Amino acid sequence: MTEADILIIGAGAAGLMTAIIAGRTHPNRRILVLDGAAKLGAKILVAGGGRCNVTHDEVSAEAYAGSSRNAIKKVLRRFDVPETVAFFRELGVDLKREDTGKLFPVTDDAHTVLEALLQAAREVGAVIQHPARVTQVERAADGFRVSGEWGSARAPKLVLATGGRALPKSGSDGGGYELARSLGHRLTDRIFPALVPLTLPRDHFICALSGITLQAGFKVRSGAGKCLASFTNSTLCTHFGLSGPSVLDISRYYLDAKLDDPTGTRLLMNWLPEQTSDSFEAGLLAAGRVSAGRFLGRWLPERLARALCEAAGIEPTTACDQLSRPARKALVETVTALPLPITGDRGYTYAEVTAGGIPLTDIRLETMESRLCPGLYVCGEICDVDGRIGGYNFQWAWSSGYVVGVSV
Ligand SMILES: Cc1cc2nc3c(=O)[nH]c(=O)nc-3n(C[C@H](O)[C@H](O)[C@H](O)COP(=O)(O)OP(=O)(O)OC[C@H]3O[C@@H](n4cnc5c(N)ncnc54)[C@H](O)[C@@H]3O)c2cc1C
Repeated sequence: MTEADILIIGAGAAGLMTAIIAGRTHPNRRILVLDGAAKLGAKILVAGGGRCNVTHDEVSAEAYAGSSRNAIKKVLRRFDVPETVAFFRELGVDLKREDTGKLFPVTDDAHTVLEALLQAAREVGAVIQHPARVTQVERAADGFRVSGEWGSARAPKLVLATGGRALPKSGSDGGGYELARSLGHRLTDRIFPALVPLTLPRDHFICALSGITLQAGFKVRSGAGKCLASFTNSTLCTHFGLSGPSVLDISRYYLDAKLDDPTGTRLLMNWLPEQTSDSFEAGLLAAGRVSAGRFLGRWLPERLARALCEAAGIEPTTACDQLSRPARKALVETVTALPLPITGDRGYTYAEVTAGGIPLTDIRLETMESRLCPGLYVCGEICDVDGRIGGYNFQWAWSSGYVVGVSV
């Protein structure tokens, strides 16, 4: 049985941050980090297309969902973006801001981030043992005992930094939720993939447009017609349906609303997000003898313009002033508020994050210690917090990991 003062399960972004900060705050503690993966840092390495989008220039609680925004804000402000930038600079990782506000290492290489974190964890004396998957955890009089095929360890303080279920082959397969449950923790009723591509019926016209990328707008509407969420950003048509930042961002709101109201919830797509239904219809009415296909071709690729006309049931060669009222209305709907018959999502294998997890109401936010199991701390994606595309999920990992590190 290995003895430690602080046991951290998970050597991802949140677990490594915890180890570094705990080691700096309490220099003589024995810190043991256990990770089930043979290769560490899989998610840091794949993030941002291999460049690792470390954080965002402007991080506010509005970019997150799950637990209350007030609770999320309390944790984020303990270790904010300037502190994150300074932390990485001190580790030798300078960050640069791109036009979108996303911050990346100047090297454009995620290895720089992972190696700096691993080096900093070693420098404070933390021991990272892997592969060492924890399959059991028990509360004992003197703290916690954890075990797996690799052996066992015990410590008075335990940190769960096991991530969620996204990208299960990385080792984050939801096993941490069971460990939390076995220590008396509740999980949210819903745990589902977020930042995930959405699927359409194979014969939907969008699937035949595979490869087209454009700016598009998406709205989730409730059965009563209320707009629950909206995002406009780069969108990718694929052979299975839709992907790209706009779709990833709206996915969790759509999937959540769909669970509330499976029949009424709708996802609407606007192919010309700078236009409303009214402005587009006014344009059509003023276009005269120009064909509908050419009219759309002012903004959209020809292949797409043709497909939209056909989806609206009109010949692309029909002159705009020859469109019947129902045909015009059908084109306006198809172009600016197309109802998408979503069949599902691409699942955790393709999701970037998990929605749901340990609710922050069960956590003391000043320390990230469990209210239900004293001595247990949580951070990162295992919490019921998920952010938008853009570096927000890592920022949650750094901020919550920091709070655990100084408190544990
Ligand atoms: C493809 C992809 C791209 C992404 N890009 C970005 C991006 O650019 N910017 C951004 O902000 N976010 C991005 N994210 C999200 C971000 O990577 C995660 O939110 C973040 O890594 C979560 O950190 P974490 O430490 O909480 O969990 P994880 O990174 O999932 O780490 C958890 C660790 O715990 C280990 N573990 C789990 N269970 C056990 C167990 N029972 N015993 C021992 N070890 C265990 C796992 O092996 C893993 O190493 C991306 C995610 C994916 C999948």
